[in-house]
Amino acid sequence: MSTNWRGAHNLHLLSSFVPIFTDCSKSDGHVGCGVVFPSDTLSYRLHNCCSVFTAELVAIFSALQEISPSSQRDFIIYTDSMSALETLSHYDTQMHPVGLEILSVLQGLRNKGFHIIFCWVPSRVGISGNETADAIAKFASAFLPRALPYPDIKKSFVSHLFSVWQQSWSLQSNNKLRSVKPLIGLWPILPIRGADVKLTRLRMGHTRFTHRHLLFGERAPLCPTCHETFTIKHILIECPSFKCHREYHFNSSSVTLQDLVGETYHPNIFNFLKTIGYFMSI
Ligand SMILES: [Zn+2]
Repeated sequence: MSTNWRGAHNLHLLSSFVPIFTDCSKSDGHVGCGVVFPSDTLSYRLHNCCSVFTAELVAIFSALQEISPSSQRDFIIYTDSMSALETLSHYDTQMHPVGLEILSVLQGLRNKGFHIIFCWVPSRVGISGNETADAIAKFASAFLPRALPYPDIKKSFVSHLFSVWQQSWSLQSNNKLRSVKPLIGLWPILPIRGADVKLTRLRMGHTRFTHRHLLFGERAPLCPTCHETFTIKHILIECPSFKCHREYHFNSSSVTLQDLVGETYHPNIFNFLKTIGYFMSI
């Protein structure tokens, strides 16, 4: 099954078709869709989990449902969603569930003699029907109860989990890794496994040198210069004994942990550690 759609340059050929504009809007806490007919409008609020793509398709579906009892037969549906048009251009069993519903309704309408053309219009360029559809979608208040597509539920759930995880992570005041990595997320992995392990240990602040004493029930190693417990932070950025090595390798004696072992770690970090004799003890 294929769906007719045309570029805006063919509009003059379609003056006998009844124009319908569809659009959607998604912002924090509100998803809506709007449909503009020549003498009427429709707008629905959708579940907050709905994606823009789902809302665009629901707008088109609502337009088709609305024209179904009409005595008119020729309609042109305008949308600024190229992805919606691409989805509707070919049937696929894996396609978006609302897309499937649209194709089913379209088939029924065609069997009743309807001619329906889809036309893409660019958004936010002052086409009045499109602007109106956008505006009524923004303020739609009548809730349209619909089953949510699985990808929308999954995306929303993952987003919520990340948000809860980030909140919990932000409260970890004594976590060494958090001071290097305040935002959760995946960081690139180094291609050499050994180097990646060492960099990860530095980021977490847990190395053989600083934590081996816990395994053997010994006292924590003390810095002979500062007489305080050795930590990765002390070695990398604090201890004055390594000031000249920092200047040599990092071009500065005033560096932060994020500068050295953050997401874009310093390329000389391992050379620095080799020079001061800690590389093999990580
Ligand atoms: Zn020191």
